[in-house]
Amino acid sequence: MAAPRTPIVAGNWKMNLDRSRGVALATAVAGRRGEAAGVELVLCPPAVYVLPVAEALAKAGGDVAVGGQNASDKESGAFTGEVAPAMLLDLGCRYVILGHSERRTLYGETDAVVNSKTKAALAAGLVPIVCVGETLAEREAGRTTAVVTEQINGSLAGLDAASLEKTVVAYEPVWAIGTGKVATPEQAQEVHATIRGLLAGLSSAATAARVRIQYGGSVKPDNAAELAACPDIDGALVGGASLKADDFLAIAKAFAGRKA
Ligand code: PEP
Repeated sequence: MAAPRTPIVAGNWKMNLDRSRGVALATAVAGRRGEAAGVELVLCPPAVYVLPVAEALAKAGGDVAVGGQNASDKESGAFTGEVAPAMLLDLGCRYVILGHSERRTLYGETDAVVNSKTKAALAAGLVPIVCVGETLAEREAGRTTAVVTEQINGSLAGLDAASLEKTVVAYEPVWAIGTGKVATPEQAQEVHATIRGLLAGLSSAATAARVRIQYGGSVKPDNAAELAACPDIDGALVGGASLKADDFLAIAKAFAGRKA
């Protein structure tokens, strides 16, 4: 029997909203959190708004978590412009997104960098949400499995079973991010099952069965239910639709009845 996995839906706000709109959105989500009972909810604002969002969530009560969108692999020191994982933790973050395709393509983050950041985040006490996914050209060339295999094995290299179980993986096909082109449930499930097999190879089948794997890429209220029905899709990493409380909560609600 599969290990129970609590669904997790995270909102990646990217470089959007200002402080007051971010606080208003967080307050709205926290106030309606009951609509997605049983689903772990995470809001990932820009780093400068982590604190006001964390404060708003604390004020609203409940258990909606805060996450960063990126963190350094260094603990402290002369790294101008960087934010250490411990600093995010200090502001109330429980999660941090790492290796998002925008960081990989726009800021040159390699699997080795993502691996180093993942280890640093875990060492600081954060839960990493590690993103992988192929480009359209890679999918069309039949290289999806090869690309995802390299990313998973590289980004999660050297993690022990306890660290792997804590880590969340997000499968985000690059061609589906911000494009309105969502992967079909069959396409997504196939890669999620591949990822779970890779995790088993890195550790054990029992460990892999406990790792939550989110799907990301144009998840909207109208396609969330069919994704949530797939056995290896344990939640969503949501970009654009996470900027509206109605949409974010509707997506989260789709995962509420999900049985792993
Ligand atoms: C993302 O950036 O992680 C993402 C999935 O974006 P969108 O939902 O807008 O495609």
